[in-house]
Amino acid sequence: MHAINLETENVQTYVNHLYEMVKVRNPSEVELHQAVKEVFNSLVPVLVKNPLYIKQRVLDRIVEPERFITFRVPWVDDEGVVQVNRGYRVQYNSALGPYKGGLRFHPSVNASIIKFLGFEQVFKNALTGQFIGGGKGGSDFDPKGKSDMEIMRFCQSFMTELSKHIGPDKDVPAGDIGVGAKEIGYLFGQYKKLKGVYEAGVLTGKAIDSGGSLGRMEATGYGLVYFVEEMLREKGLSFENSNVVISGSGNVSIYAMEKAIQLGATVIACSDSSGYVYDPSGINLDTVKRLKEVENKRIKEYVISHPEAVYQPNYKGIWNVPCDIALPCATQNELDIKSANQLIKNGVKAIGEGANMPTTIEAMDEFQANSVLFAPAKAANAGGVAVSSLEMAQNSSRVFWTQEEVDVKLRDIMKNIYKKSMDASQEYGYPGNLVIGANIVGFVRVADTMIAQGVI
Ligand code: GLU
Repeated sequence: MHAINLETENVQTYVNHLYEMVKVRNPSEVELHQAVKEVFNSLVPVLVKNPLYIKQRVLDRIVEPERFITFRVPWVDDEGVVQVNRGYRVQYNSALGPYKGGLRFHPSVNASIIKFLGFEQVFKNALTGQFIGGGKGGSDFDPKGKSDMEIMRFCQSFMTELSKHIGPDKDVPAGDIGVGAKEIGYLFGQYKKLKGVYEAGVLTGKAIDSGGSLGRMEATGYGLVYFVEEMLREKGLSFENSNVVISGSGNVSIYAMEKAIQLGATVIACSDSSGYVYDPSGINLDTVKRLKEVENKRIKEYVISHPEAVYQPNYKGIWNVPCDIALPCATQNELDIKSANQLIKNGVKAIGEGANMPTTIEAMDEFQANSVLFAPAKAANAGGVAVSSLEMAQNSSRVFWTQEEVDVKLRDIMKNIYKKSMDASQEYGYPGNLVIGANIVGFVRVADTMIAQGVI
């Protein structure tokens, strides 16, 4: 790239040029392009104010992963047939600490998905105030319909390769879609066997007796609700007596439902990738937990024990359900402009992103243009990785905190992220815009640390 003359080239041109370069370097990786575009657009005011970031090419460096690893994952299914999947780990940025971020097992996983998630993780992890870099990984393996033994054999094969690249002070994976305590258990067992040491801190989201932390399971969902609570409070609103729609029915969704209900809300709809259920009297969380955490069933079956509820076989239809607060907790780009307009028409007051990048850029802009409060994922769903970092701290010091101790720390972290993001939105001239505020806070912490560590 040619030398930049700040006299003649304005910051927007520089950012646009760099964005084009990202597209050239990562052709057809549309999710990565989307994540980068959103961050870059937010950073223009900070680059104008601090030309050192441009001189030092911090943005050019931050957008390029430190390392991107792909590998073959062969395993034998229950019929004795060999299957081959592809494994990934992106080690995006280690300025603030060991690479940290989850593993996603889902057939949609590809280089673009892993890179977008890794890129977001860098900023999210910085926002937590903890000392963790950003990474992400996973595989196109589909756990749906697989036996426990197939999942175990897959995890063992995946870890046989991944173990060469991770470690408690190097890179610390955790769960994401398709990876929960069970998969983490199999991965940890294989790592322990291969290395011949009990390094509990190599993975987070472990079961308690394998060195897990109380409160980690609930952390992303609870943290999301704590964050949205702060956002609502500033406008004199709250969860109490509000109707809430929460997409998904996995780990994030379940514990967002639990906390929202505890705070006096009625959760009237949830979903899975096949469809959604609408229960006007309030979703029964015990039923959802039984179906999803124990029996591994589709959400459709909810209506068997709750005939008053309605099931619709179209998961995006969930956004047509009128509500005060909408929490997209399923997956990327699940809430598009059409759904946004429907939510706005139905009088939605606040959106909180529990999933990673669940809202398209157009939909996000529409919410902001219509003064709907908007809590972006990097800030609002950072509670999961924040408690992962607390799990690492407990593993390193061999202490074990109570659920209450962890919850107090999580609440503090979420409040802090809200305050810092809000303050930055004001400082940089976009008061109340948490998308811009959160991106700036995350970026500045990583950028300053990268400069301090030199060009490496
Ligand atoms: N996958 C989660 C996230 O998107 C958690 C990552 C972790 O705990 O390392 O932040």
